[in-house]
Amino acid sequence: MKKHNFSAGPCILPPEVLHEASQALLNFDDLDLSLVEISHRSKNFVAVMDEAVALAKELLKVPEGYSVLFLQGGASLQFVMVAFNLMNYEGGRAAYTNTGTWASNAIKEAKRLGEALVLASSEEDNFNHIPKGYSVPSDVDYFHCTSNNTIFGTQMKDFPNTDGTLMVCDMSSDIFSRTINVADFDLIYAGVQKNMGPAGATMVIVKDEILGKTGRDIPAYLNYATHIKKDSMFNTPPVFSVYGSMLTLRWLKAKGGVATIEKENQAKADLIYNEVDRNSKFVGTAAKEDRSNMNACFLPVEGADTAKFDEMWKAAGINGLNGHRSVGGYRASMYNALPLESVQVLVDVMQAFEKL
Ligand SMILES: *Cc1c(COP(=O)(O)O)cnc(C)c1O
Repeated sequence: MKKHNFSAGPCILPPEVLHEASQALLNFDDLDLSLVEISHRSKNFVAVMDEAVALAKELLKVPEGYSVLFLQGGASLQFVMVAFNLMNYEGGRAAYTNTGTWASNAIKEAKRLGEALVLASSEEDNFNHIPKGYSVPSDVDYFHCTSNNTIFGTQMKDFPNTDGTLMVCDMSSDIFSRTINVADFDLIYAGVQKNMGPAGATMVIVKDEILGKTGRDIPAYLNYATHIKKDSMFNTPPVFSVYGSMLTLRWLKAKGGVATIEKENQAKADLIYNEVDRNSKFVGTAAKEDRSNMNACFLPVEGADTAKFDEMWKAAGINGLNGHRSVGGYRASMYNALPLESVQVLVDVMQAFEKL
């Protein structure tokens, strides 16, 4: 039996997607060749890339004037590329919120190229909430935030009005999990391995008109314009990751799209958080209003027999429940493909544990 997979990333993918992707590894499009051994410039693979881009645009209702790219290097390379493409060469200055490990890493990279102003931070509270009440300055090159903090289990429920300042967001761990208004953002990026496909690709949605304005000489691969011009085929793309992402987006569309999955994700989050709050053996780590619908973090109470709990959830077929070392305890990652039934299995184990 397949495990109930709460892995924080790489994430659970729909069984249909894994099945179809495994077939394509053996014989893609009846070519008697594997997906991973044909030219990325063949019409068969170009059709995959085109469909992945078209589905992303359709599902997120991406307006005219934006490009969708599939790049390599993970979200971590985007920390670098964002700064290269948007920070002025002379007197570069950007504003960041520091809401977790990934945000901190993004700030570190920006500091190599200019000033990275930390507008607001929850670091002193081990990132257990989303800072609010700051305003985005108008004299910075861009503003950068992280929509979902995978490690700490917090999620931005609202985004600040940046009043004309470019708005950049790392949506790695909640892309396609809830409806967003893409027009409110100038650049969105997401490593696909958290919520949309096998590791290897990063999706970028960028407003074309914001590019080419920094006076900086950008290395070819790091320049978004390079990839826009070549339809993400400047160099060999991560073909399997793009294909798996395309299949996952097909699956999402067939399910009814982002608004439908958002409701399911809400139901899953309600189920786990109600139990965390009710159960006398556990306590949630994130501020209630900022709790992530993707990653639910909770700690055992003092004196709880965690060895017993670990044994119980493993016996129930649950995988990937250990919290990140910087928070400890448990983290239930409930990405799009995780069924509600898996969350119910976890809740049942938590209840059985409480009754011991
Ligand atoms: C996992 C993660 C990253 C890092 O992604 P890579 O693709 O491994 O570089 C960045 N940001 C967030 C929010 C993440 O969850």
